[in-house]
Amino acid sequence: MHELTLTSEVCKVVAEASKGQRVTAVHLEIGKLSGVYAEAIRFCFELVSAEFPELAGAALHITEPEGRARCRRCEQSFTLHSALEACPCGSFELDWISGRGLIIQAMEVTSCAESAAVRA
Ligand SMILES: [Zn+2]
Repeated sequence: MHELTLTSEVCKVVAEASKGQRVTAVHLEIGKLSGVYAEAIRFCFELVSAEFPELAGAALHITEPEGRARCRRCEQSFTLHSALEACPCGSFELDWISGRGLIIQAMEVTSCAESAAVRA
């Protein structure tokens, strides 16, 4: 199960970054075109976070940004509704801006807030 592997990866990274501090919340960005199901991540997080003492009882916040890309030919940026979409000008040479990845945006620990940007 893809989501379970991803969630384990996220929990491992967050637990390491917390350096033993208690994590109260984890903020994840899951792009709408990443192919990752946010609901499945939420479900897996309940199971996986219980295995890490640093993450016990931590809340999970998920944002799901739209897929956006910039065209290399006409330099227009636009919203993508599918990973196979082309630019309105017909070009497939696109640079993705958002919506394709799973990113750990931030984590909150008991003593202070720390941010981490990690691509998984
Ligand atoms: Zn274009």
